[in-house]
Amino acid sequence: MSDFNSTRTVTARKEHKCAESHCRRKILPGDKYVRIASVWDGDFFSLKSCVRCERLRRKARKRYGDYFRDGDGIIYGELLNSIREARGS
Ligand SMILES: [Zn+2]
Repeated sequence: MSDFNSTRTVTARKEHKCAESHCRRKILPGDKYVRIASVWDGDFFSLKSCVRCERLRRKARKRYGDYFRDGDGIIYGELLNSIREARGS
């Protein structure tokens, strides 16, 4: 379970890449993107995600909230796989 989670939408100052494995979209300077910081089992990690993936993440959380609460949640970087698993459950 996640102990801590912070999601912030910021404007890119340099080029980034979406961390979701199905996406890997370029985030260009001036684009909005989402910075996620989290502590997972005591380990800190952070990653960058494009706004499209964040929208999908929110939708999935709404739709499969119960599933994600009981399980590992949505695994960052593996958003599509997490949704597939929730769908198949
Ligand atoms: Zn993305």
